[in-house]
Amino acid sequence: MPVKGAASEPAVIEPSLTAAVEPELETEEPLYAGRRKIYPQSVQGTFRRIKWAVLCITLGIYYGLPFIRWDRGPNAPSQAVLIDFPGRRFYFFFIEIWPQEVYYFTGLLILAAMALFLMNAVAGRLWCGYLCPQTVWTDLFQAVERLVEGDRREHLQRERGPWTVERVARAGIKHFLWLMIAWWTGGAWVLYFSDAPTLVRDLATFHAPLIAYIWIGVLTCTTYFLAGHMREQVCLYMCPWPRIQAALTDEHALNVTYRYDRGEPRSSVKKSALLRSQGASVGDCVDCLQCVNVCPTGIDIRDGANLGCIQCGLCIDACDAVMSKIGRPAKLIAYDTDLNIKRRQQGQPQRFDIMRMRTVFYAAVIAVVGAIMLYTLATRHAAAISVIHDRNPIFVRLSDGAIRNAYTVRIINKRLQSREFALAVAGLAGSFVDVIGASASKGGPPVLSVGPDQTREFRVLVTNYNDTLPSATPVTFHIVDLATDERASAADHFRGP
Ligand code: SF4
Ligand code: SF4
Repeated sequence: MPVKGAASEPAVIEPSLTAAVEPELETEEPLYAGRRKIYPQSVQGTFRRIKWAVLCITLGIYYGLPFIRWDRGPNAPSQAVLIDFPGRRFYFFFIEIWPQEVYYFTGLLILAAMALFLMNAVAGRLWCGYLCPQTVWTDLFQAVERLVEGDRREHLQRERGPWTVERVARAGIKHFLWLMIAWWTGGAWVLYFSDAPTLVRDLATFHAPLIAYIWIGVLTCTTYFLAGHMREQVCLYMCPWPRIQAALTDEHALNVTYRYDRGEPRSSVKKSALLRSQGASVGDCVDCLQCVNVCPTGIDIRDGANLGCIQCGLCIDACDAVMSKIGRPAKLIAYDTDLNIKRRQQGQPQRFDIMRMRTVFYAAVIAVVGAIMLYTLATRHAAAISVIHDRNPIFVRLSDGAIRNAYTVRIINKRLQSREFALAVAGLAGSFVDVIGASASKGGPPVLSVGPDQTREFRVLVTNYNDTLPSATPVTFHIVDLATDERASAADHFRGP
């Protein structure tokens, strides 16, 4: 299906429904059109209920998650989800991510992208219509607006009238409530970066760090303007996803579709009843514009696929209500494909191909990446070692003829208790290992202590008397937890002349 770019009066597509557009007329369209304010009407129905449910769940998670506690034992934060910049950790319930493990975020990004592509391949802009933060907060702001200013008709009438005390009061209350929601949205954001109850107390008593107030201010402003004032403008002009989505979709993806094979030719309720009684061919659309009035981006879905359509499904609810009133079957607007419309027009059965090459591919990538991440999380070690060979000098010859190499060995202890590790170097027979500042078990390998949840560096000297070694001999540094026998190792080289 061809898709035109969105303009302030969103562009439309369905050559079979609209009169052919003269190319020269297209070029005469102004490059800029002022914003047409939209007053979406309230609507009841299945998709509206789904949207309310998604709104409550997503906002409930966002505002409530920082207050959920998770016992990790003493000396560890008890917040279930915490981005701990000073401690350089990310906590997510039982998962603790160290800076060395940021590859998990790469996996998460791949999962998120594939989930988005899969949603798009199955049912178009599910993300935009139900889950996108811009959609969710705009929905909330519009609900507040309807509560204070009234539904579409009442709001429109008041806006066209003079400024009265009541109008000023209603506008003031609305903007106050918007600002309160925006402020709490910014407030909730900073709670993910510090212990939430403590930070709430510090914010209230003005003892919180300045950066927390700055971030709350920034997010209050962005939420207030994006959800209160810019609304559909963000989707139409700022967000790149509609363009990307249009390139990724195919003719089998379900989209909110006006079934013009059923709806056309459209006419008024009275006229269509009359024509129907005369046995004339008439469509189900009664041109009531209810689908347009409820649309949060102000488009007419009957004009065809449109970048301005966020696929929220509210026009389906509106049209279903109209169809029910006039005694016609529901789903004149529905999740469907243009391919099906054409098949029905040709007398062929409609087809819904959810299992396609691309949906199977996206689902397979999600399954494989998810499985790898789960496996690595389940088998991750609580101890790790890394080794850096001294660059200059690469080796030194001692007065007794021995060759000595120096290394910086870093040991990570991810447990919340202090641990002692025995260090050994394998691959170099007859070598001696010394660690500056470490205790040595009698006659045994050096023992290195690392505090709870810490990383510690050691200077390690390896000495060998074998004069016939090659210039680079592979060696492996092993550590063994003396209490649990947990092991880790890292490879390097022993250099010589
Ligand atoms: S709500 Fe349904 S009947 Fe009314 S204009 Fe839209 S498509 Fe036609
Ligand atoms: S056309 Fe329908 S599905 Fe698309 S944004 Fe408007 S109301 Fe939502």
